[in-house]
Order: sequence, then structure tokens, then C-alpha cells
Amino acid sequence: MAHDHAHDEHEHDHDEHDHEHEHDDSAGDRERELVRRQALAQIRQYPDVALRMRAREVTEFDEFLVQLVERMANLMHDAQGVGLAATQIGVLQRVFVFAPDDEPMRAVVNPQLTLDESEKLVDEEGCLSLREVRVPVERATKVVLEGKDPNGDDVRYELDGLAARVVQHETDHLDGVLTIDRTDPESRKRALGTLRPQPTLA
Ligand SMILES: [Zn+2]
Repeated sequence: MAHDHAHDEHEHDHDEHDHEHEHDDSAGDRERELVRRQALAQIRQYPDVALRMRAREVTEFDEFLVQLVERMANLMHDAQGVGLAATQIGVLQRVFVFAPDDEPMRAVVNPQLTLDESEKLVDEEGCLSLREVRVPVERATKVVLEGKDPNGDDVRYELDGLAARVVQHETDHLDGVLTIDRTDPESRKRALGTLRPQPTLA
């Protein structure tokens, strides 16, 4: 899941006379943007078929899995995302990583979600596989997430707010479901228009 840039503007304390500091800042921004684009280039983009496939249960808790999680965590961080599912890098295994609100990264293998259906909330969601598309999606505000960590040990998290939203989004990815499937028809139509390949004008 993509970070919400609208909520992510740094509140700069601008000192107009501090040119050197401003210069360093913009160089840092450019570097982060380059890193972000390089990471996005390694993440499957709509309409890649892998995004529509159902991932398989993980049965081997081995070195491959540990390395997969490490790679996913690095990509999520570099792409400035808050969650990434294995299907998004073309690996059809039930694994995702998430790190909402500067919380430490967590990886969950074979996730099982229990939704608290009593309260739902509609909010805009971005996706690292859907470029600039952000669409409103209704989600349960509280969930219990159970599964394994990459070592094969049981994990159980009670989540709310953004974390609850992110893990529902990532679990969807493992079933081949995207935000555009869950949004209202009007938003879906607009999103598909954005995602359509643009003709190249001579
Ligand atoms: Zn996504």
C-alpha cells in the first residue's frame, strides 16, 4: 500500500537565509525520489497478471523465505510504502510486510484476518502497483491478524486505524484483489481511465 503523500508533507521551518540547508534538503529529496522510482520499477504494476493471482500457503520456513521478507521490507521502505505483498514482486506465496505510521516493520506469513464488522470506514487508498491511483475503500476499522513470522512462530496482532486498513489491503493482494475492485463504480471508472495506457502523440 502506498503512503499518503497529502498527509506526508514535512512541515519545514523555513529560514530563507539558510541557503545551504535548503540546498541539502532538495538534494536529499531528489535522492529519495530516485530511490523510490528504482524500487517501484521492481514492483509489478497494473495490469501485470501476477497481481490477479491467488498466492499459495507457505509450507517451507527456510532461508528463501527470510531473504524474500528482507527484500520486500527494503523495497517497501525505498518505495515509501506502508505495506507490500509478495504477489507484488511476482512471488505467489502468502507473505506480506507492513509498517504503518513509522512503526517497526512486521512480516506475516499465511495471514488469517478476523474483521470486527461492527465499525467500517471509507478512506482513500493508494497502492504501489497502481501508480497515482487513489480510490475510496471501505474497511473494518479493527481486525485481528494471525499467522506466522518468517521463522515459523505464531504471531497475533490486534490492529486498528491505518494498520488495520493496510493489512486488509495486503491480504487482498494475496487473493488477487485490488482497491479498484472494492471501490464505488464511479471511482473505479475514473481509476481505470488513469491506468489505461496513454497513446503516444508524435
Ligand atoms: Zn497495493
